[in-house]
Amino acid sequence: MQSLSRRSVLKSSSTVALCALGVATGLGSAWAAGKIKPAGSAALIVVDVQNCFVEGGTLPVGKGAQVVPVINKLASAFENIVVTQDWHTPGHASFATSYPGKKPFETTKLSYGNQVLWPDHCVQGTDDAALHKDLKLPTAQLIIRKGFHKDMDSYSAFEEANHKTATGLAGYLKQRGIKTVFVTGLATDFCVAWTAMDARKLGFEVYVIEDATRAIDLNGSLAAAWQQMAAKGVKRIQSADIA
Ligand SMILES: [Zn+2]
Repeated sequence: MQSLSRRSVLKSSSTVALCALGVATGLGSAWAAGKIKPAGSAALIVVDVQNCFVEGGTLPVGKGAQVVPVINKLASAFENIVVTQDWHTPGHASFATSYPGKKPFETTKLSYGNQVLWPDHCVQGTDDAALHKDLKLPTAQLIIRKGFHKDMDSYSAFEEANHKTATGLAGYLKQRGIKTVFVTGLATDFCVAWTAMDARKLGFEVYVIEDATRAIDLNGSLAAAWQQMAAKGVKRIQSADIA
């Protein structure tokens, strides 16, 4: 199946992009066309591609549905795929309607810090919380739900907002020998970014595939998220960089 690629010649065990390595290792420009071939120790994480976060949903991310075909196409390059769902109780602590006088997109202080207040969204078991109907990931192995504790939000697929309560995803990935994760989905500046940064903290090599994400961009949150991700060693790539 696999041709005698530069990757196999190099016998690299990592999924690092050859296009990036070309310069970094002095291999020269001949290597620049190299693409990333996700190894068996890599996983694609598809964050919150749910009805709630696309047009017609309760908390739509601009052009959110555009990630669907990109992610469907990416999926064929991965042996391991994990899908997440934002999965809130009715009356959840992240909902503006839970606080008299508060409006969506304002903030409030909760026991674990500042919380952006959102419109009611992704309530457990509703059609709004279902995965987007066009998302075709038949080989995905795990769906992990987050944000299901009534008093705590969870942007990250790894840790809830108190930065203590684990979702179990790190244990799952580590037990399966996953070392590298490629994060996609919605929204770039919230659940994708927090997932990517927590993955770094937990020792994974992390890529965010930018064109497989869309952002909310609330008060400059997108630029801030990219800056914070870069500072933590998250690599920003495009779907065309994946072989
Ligand atoms: Zn949520």
